[in-house]
Amino acid sequence: MNLVQEMIQNETDYLTLTEDEMVDFKFTKPGMDRLIVFDLDETLIHVQREGLDVAECDWVPDHNIDVVDEDGEKDVAKFSIRPHYKRCLEFVNKYFEVAVFTAGHKWFANPIVDALDPKGIYIQHRYFRRSCVELERGEDRFFTKNLRMFRGVDINKVLIVDNNVYSFAPNFENGIPIIDFFGSKRDAELLKVIDYLDKLKDKQNLRAANEKNFGF
Ligand SMILES: [Mg+2]
Repeated sequence: MNLVQEMIQNETDYLTLTEDEMVDFKFTKPGMDRLIVFDLDETLIHVQREGLDVAECDWVPDHNIDVVDEDGEKDVAKFSIRPHYKRCLEFVNKYFEVAVFTAGHKWFANPIVDALDPKGIYIQHRYFRRSCVELERGEDRFFTKNLRMFRGVDINKVLIVDNNVYSFAPNFENGIPIIDFFGSKRDAELLKVIDYLDKLKDKQNLRAANEKNFGF
C-alpha cells in the first residue's frame, strides 16, 4: 500500500467537507455541466525557485512579472509556461468549463494565471491554497484538492489534471496524472492530454471512464 492510499484509509476526515469548505459553483457557459480542473505548478507552468534551478540547469524562465505578497512586499515571479498550453486550453474549452486549482498562494498565483489567460477566455474559475484541504503526515504537509467542494457539480462530470497524485487523493477516480514540467521547450505532455480527453469526451460518466483507464 502506498503512502497516499494509507493516508486515505487512516484519515477519512478530510474526505468530508464542512459547509465552510464548500463553494457555490456556477457554470458560465450555457448548457455546460462538465468541469476540468488544472493544477498550476509543474502542470501548466514552472516557476524558478531560489537556488536550485539556477544552480543546476541552464533553463531560463520566459516570463517575469511583478507580484505583491500579503504584506505588500514586492516580488518577481519568474516562470515558463508549458508548451502547447494554448492549444490544450482551446480544446478543453469546447467540452468543459475550465478551472485552475493550485496549492499556491493567491497573491503569487493569480498574476500568473492572468499571464496564462490575459483576455480571460480560457480559464473561467480560479482556486488557491485556501481551497485545499491540508494534511499533515509526520514532517510532511500535503495540500489535497477535494473535487466534491463544488456545490452543484456532479462528481461524475469532473476531471483534474495534476502532476502530484496526492493532490487528487480525495478523488483518485477523477485524476489525470501528468509528468512534471520543469521548463523544457520540447515538452509535449499537453498534446497527450488533448489526445486522451478526445477519447474520453463522449463518455457519459467521465469519472468512471477515467478510473477504468488509470485503475487507481
Ligand atoms: Mg503541481
